[in-house]
Amino acid sequence: MADELTPMLRQYRAMKQEMDGDALLLFRLGDFYELFMDDAREAASLLGLALTHRAGQPMCGIPHHALDSYLAKIVRAGRKAAICDQMEDPKSVKGGRMVRREITRIVTPGTVTEEALLADDADNYLASVVPDGKGEGFVVGILELSTGEFFCERPDGRTALVEALRRLAPREAIVPDRAEPAPRDGEVLAALSEAGVRCVTPVDEWYFDPASAHDFLLRHFGVASLDGFGCEGVPALSAAAGSLLRRVGEDLRRDLGHVRSLRLRASAGFMTLDETTCAHLNLFPVPGGEPGASLYEALNATRTPMGARLLHGWIARPLFDEARIRARLDAVAALIADRGSLTPLRDALGGVRDLARAIARVSLGRGGARDVAAISASLRAVPALRERLARAAGASALLADTLDGLRPLPELTERIDATLADELPAALSDGGVIRAGFSPELDRLRDAQRNGRAWVAEYQAAEAARTGIRNLKVRYNRVFGYFIEVTSSQLGNVPENYSRKQTIANGERFTTSELKEREELIAGAEAHALQLEAELFEALRAEVVARTGEVQAVAAAIARLDALCSLADRALALGYVRPEVDGSDEIDIRGGRHPIVELLPGAERFVPNDARLNCRDRQIMVITGPNMAGKSTYLRQTALIVILAQIGSYVPADAARIGLVDRVFTRVGAADDLARGRSTFLVEMQETANILNNATPRSLIVLDEIGRGTSTFDGISIAWAVAEFLHDEPRVKAKTLFATHYHELTDLALAKSGVVNCSVLVRERGDGIVFLRRIVEGPADKSYGIAVAKLAGMPEPVLSRARQILANLERQEVAGAPGMPAPAEPAAPAAAGPQRVRRARPAADDRQLTLGF
Ligand code: ADP
Ligand code: MG
Repeated sequence: MADELTPMLRQYRAMKQEMDGDALLLFRLGDFYELFMDDAREAASLLGLALTHRAGQPMCGIPHHALDSYLAKIVRAGRKAAICDQMEDPKSVKGGRMVRREITRIVTPGTVTEEALLADDADNYLASVVPDGKGEGFVVGILELSTGEFFCERPDGRTALVEALRRLAPREAIVPDRAEPAPRDGEVLAALSEAGVRCVTPVDEWYFDPASAHDFLLRHFGVASLDGFGCEGVPALSAAAGSLLRRVGEDLRRDLGHVRSLRLRASAGFMTLDETTCAHLNLFPVPGGEPGASLYEALNATRTPMGARLLHGWIARPLFDEARIRARLDAVAALIADRGSLTPLRDALGGVRDLARAIARVSLGRGGARDVAAISASLRAVPALRERLARAAGASALLADTLDGLRPLPELTERIDATLADELPAALSDGGVIRAGFSPELDRLRDAQRNGRAWVAEYQAAEAARTGIRNLKVRYNRVFGYFIEVTSSQLGNVPENYSRKQTIANGERFTTSELKEREELIAGAEAHALQLEAELFEALRAEVVARTGEVQAVAAAIARLDALCSLADRALALGYVRPEVDGSDEIDIRGGRHPIVELLPGAERFVPNDARLNCRDRQIMVITGPNMAGKSTYLRQTALIVILAQIGSYVPADAARIGLVDRVFTRVGAADDLARGRSTFLVEMQETANILNNATPRSLIVLDEIGRGTSTFDGISIAWAVAEFLHDEPRVKAKTLFATHYHELTDLALAKSGVVNCSVLVRERGDGIVFLRRIVEGPADKSYGIAVAKLAGMPEPVLSRARQILANLERQEVAGAPGMPAPAEPAAPAAAGPQRVRRARPAADDRQLTLGF
């Protein structure tokens, strides 16, 4: 078979075999990077390319100048690419030999650093996951190559591992490729897949050997032990961190000098948010979702990519540490108090570029002159930041600390600005990187080039005069260099010393010994100048690299300042208040609003509501009311206000007092969760089980229509038992908001002292209803399902038949015993009653579904 392939395809096939791993091979051929065979099939659908054939094999191609945008798509899909370039000029290859090609770069989702391949406001993590020697724990090592961030976390079991991986959302993970799989390797792989990590790269097992990984880390950081990082004495930690650093350094054939410290990130001190909760509460935008419909978008007014990434991280990991929360709130308060400085401060932040990623690229040797210039431009904004921050920093320790981190590094900016030209070319080889006046030698070479051109102009004039050929031209092109062009009619006047070079359509081209000599001088000066520019730039780069740590510290201070300014700006713009945060078991929100819904364009005016919960007489709030009344919105706004407070943000309310919450759980009944495509009752029950097993008295639980995915009796029974357990089990006893359409559950309050009934007020008007959006104490007196069905445009005969059936049912229920819910078996039509109405509701409900309500 191979013999039938062309030599080129044979070369391709050989390269593909030599490469280990499963990267797409991008094979340079002329002006294209081509993919063949299986890669071509995959790429055609992944990248939307046209599939063609060559020697009977499928192929498709990417124009070389568009490589970056296609690479971005490849890594975003969680795939890797190997770039195979031509190592010699095809023109110089003779006699049917193949052009020499080599793999010059392997691009993987976790190791890209190019601006075009990274999202500005998201971290690009590469993970290494290792089972912890003892017990059930794991270590997750994380490297953000594009900024140099490097840390480990130690989830204490399988569930915590999945949660950590979901939160960190690494683009890629490396795992040991063992001859003999270790007992818990399978658990790691399962957790990665459960957490949705798409790109998993097996790596030789010796990278994970704890002793040599430890040695490698010591050598990298130039330290005698990892004590200084708080990371000594944990073999699995050395394995996770060391494998990452070593493997990436070797892959890129670079020293990762910009990775300057390792941290052990505590899982204590942070609120736990699982992925389902993040999704139900719309913490982050989802692909294809409605713009603006996430907490991140509501809060984000950052002006720099670093600030945006940090804010993202704050939302994903709210604090569970009173002092740190208060420090952030103090900082936001100080910025708000000095609000005259806030706008100029944020304007100054607008002049800062992605300093963190620029210094990382420069340090990795991947950055060009434009990255170095971006570093200087960003540092130049620092004095203005310092000046505008000075007053607020007097009122907040965190801001004072930030101010301290804002070092302008004037020698560095001066050095950069003195060296680099104002207008920088995209590539060093284009020339013109170094500023005129910086190097006398370079100026001389550039003069020589310029003088050369002046000489050519003079020579043309002199020759025209001497020969009498008035339209004689001295021209230049890349192939022939300088030449004299004479049109056909004037060929008779060409002097003896001209030698013919080329015939063209309307004349001939000549050269002379003088012209040749001058051409060599000019070309020599040009090559020399480029060489010198490269040396001067390299010297500058080395000086910048030497200050990597200082630049990173400034970048970190800017990120923090930007995130805090964003919180202050939003608090002012949206009328938020400072929450009181303490260790009590109270949640007391006055006039709370939903931070996302209140901003949605075209929505009705938002009606604020109170929420009061504690672990004693208001532990479980059962909320009833008709469909569409506002139950789900109320549940979510309460959870979001708690999360905002623990991020250190002001909150959308008139006043709020929040006793620290260790974890927010949200579960939404299966029938309400169709938008996420997880409609099985089993999933709902699994999620509920997880809550009952993991909640503590410090947790906040949001249960929205639990038990809906099964028959009415089942549903009520399960919902009832769940509520009882939450109330009675001392290990749990978590504050709970429970929205339900099962009116029967309001009877819980009769038996359980911690249960209170609330409902959403509606006003009846004729046989229709008006939603008032107000939460009041006490159960709803009716479920109003039929009124909602009417709103939805249900045909009148169906409505009147439903009223009839309802009346029947209610008569039977009155006959039954109150206390425990024991309604009579509903007649068949009732099962298709009020709850199904949501599906039939017209356009007004669309937004609701995308929001996950
Ligand atoms: P339920 O869960 O009771 O069916 P939802 O919480 O889904 O009701 O609310 C239905 C709609 O009412 C939502 O789309 C929302 O825009 C609107 N809404 C809810 N609460 C309020 C409020 N407090 N103020 C204004 N509009 C609200
Ligand atoms: Mg609802």
